[in-house]
Amino acid sequence: MDFGQMREYMVRTQLLARHIKDARVIEAMKKVPRHLFVPEIERIRAYDDCALPIGHGQTISQPYMVAIMTELLDLAGKEKVLEIGTGSGYQTAVLAELSDWVFSVERIAELTDYARENLRKAGCLNVTLKTSDGSEGWIEEAPFDRIIVTAATPEFPVPLIEQLAENGIGIAPVGSRYNQILTKITKKEGQVSRSSYTMCVFVPLVGKHGWEESNS
Ligand code: SAH
Repeated sequence: MDFGQMREYMVRTQLLARHIKDARVIEAMKKVPRHLFVPEIERIRAYDDCALPIGHGQTISQPYMVAIMTELLDLAGKEKVLEIGTGSGYQTAVLAELSDWVFSVERIAELTDYARENLRKAGCLNVTLKTSDGSEGWIEEAPFDRIIVTAATPEFPVPLIEQLAENGIGIAPVGSRYNQILTKITKKEGQVSRSSYTMCVFVPLVGKHGWEESNS
């Protein structure tokens, strides 16, 4: 199995063909070994054009969705990034290739451990992980230049808007539990503006500023 070739093919047919343009995003996704971020049994499908199960009812996002969200963050390399919903750690690793440091929060402790191990195997060092309700952000480390939420949320969580730095960009799938619109916020002179992108389907953000656990 040549995972390098599979990765090249994935980038060509799923990202370039769908007009992902940021050369740095393309390079990062050519480099990060996605097969190290899926369970052994899913390894053969690691570069398929879909989300895959990672246990605990959660998923690793489709490569195209990772690319589009990362592209919208417009990373130059020096940013301090907050990610909510570590999951497998794959998106974390892509962000870490393109920024200075990634802080990532996951609510399920076993998945934090899983992601930590995956990131270690992938040789990714500029990340800090913790288990908690990421809908409240990471106040001790705020502000962040970029914030990405990789779980569906009814509104952009207010604490995350507050923890976004001036000139910062935030991305989240905002909508109902079953479908959402990828939403970008930007903060300029304290004012927050919003723009909408593609439709998407994410697992729910479960927490104080997301959905209640009982409904998940
Ligand atoms: N970026 C991940 C996506 C994982 S799915 C990847 O590509 O692998 C979304 C993740 O968000 C799940 O692991 C889920 O447990 C987590 N999540 C849900 N609600 C959360 C919350 N309030 N705080 C932190 N993580 C949360």
